[in-house]
Amino acid sequence: MQENVVMTFHEKFRQYDLGEGHPYRGDRFLNAINFFREQGLLSLPQLKVIEPKPASKEDLLMVHDESYVDLIFRLASEGRPYDIETPVSPQILEAALLIVGGAIECGKAVYDERAKRAISLGGGFHHAGRDYGGGFCLFNDIAVLVEHLRHERNVKRFLILDYDVHFGNGTSDIYYRDSSVLFISLHQDPRTLYPGKGFTWEIGEGYGEGFNVNVPLPPGTGDSTYLYALREIFVPLAEEFQPEIIIANGGSDPHFADMLGDLSLTAKGFFALSNLIRETAKKLCDGKLIMLVGSGYNPKILPLCWYALAAGAVGLEEINAKEPYAAPIEPPFCRKKVEGVIDELKGLLKKRWKCFR
Ligand SMILES: [Zn+2]
Repeated sequence: MQENVVMTFHEKFRQYDLGEGHPYRGDRFLNAINFFREQGLLSLPQLKVIEPKPASKEDLLMVHDESYVDLIFRLASEGRPYDIETPVSPQILEAALLIVGGAIECGKAVYDERAKRAISLGGGFHHAGRDYGGGFCLFNDIAVLVEHLRHERNVKRFLILDYDVHFGNGTSDIYYRDSSVLFISLHQDPRTLYPGKGFTWEIGEGYGEGFNVNVPLPPGTGDSTYLYALREIFVPLAEEFQPEIIIANGGSDPHFADMLGDLSLTAKGFFALSNLIRETAKKLCDGKLIMLVGSGYNPKILPLCWYALAAGAVGLEEINAKEPYAAPIEPPFCRKKVEGVIDELKGLLKKRWKCFR
């Protein structure tokens, strides 16, 4: 039997448009949806696209400080930016609340058993912390989803896999002292990319020590080394942690042709990544998986990569992943460097995790 999958999408997501010349434009959502339709994804009987309702202020307050939420609402009404790269307007705020609402809707769909897995299109605003935004992000929808499931569904163990090219500093900060959330982030070496954090030795503090796992990857890292890192770190940690649900966030920015990052994944790599996450969820947590897919800054490859991610989550056996550009060859030093990062991480984490002893 086919397992049902829910995808959240709203026409008004397009209002999350940070302006002419900004890498984050609002046409990404409809471009992706149209590509999904062309590829036949939207005609699959097991996939249901639903419109989310906007998140409420109470939803945001499960994660964010009230003074910060009030600040964003005030900036929106005045049409002033949060920072130089994160503009705010009534339209952007409306779209942001709908995207956060999408994450909550995905949580409801999976826990009401309307779907085995869910995809929050446009989600994954991982640079927003409790009392700050930035990096194009206003509200951390990943954390709002976690807190919704904790409070409404009594979920106690969450695994967040952040495969965005950038380190998810907001999510990491929110759960840095929390052992109920295992946060694993694969990202480009922070010495070479925003936000300049996310080193191996940042492993969490207090009760959260060992539950923040950063895997920095050198520029140029391609599919096979990336998947090797996932199998060495994500899979054994997930097996030992035994999450009740896996939440994964990212988008197309680790692709080799993305403008902001320098990792070298291909669309096939995204498909393999998504398959590995789905299979891990199937093995460990009755298949419960929510993917938040929103990042990516090359409009030529974004729909293809989002499609590869969505197709993996749906469970398609293969995809037609024709790249518009030739993929580069991984520089020979990448694998050695990543092996070094993995050895170092296992050493740092072995006190907490048997799988690394
Ligand atoms: Zn990113």
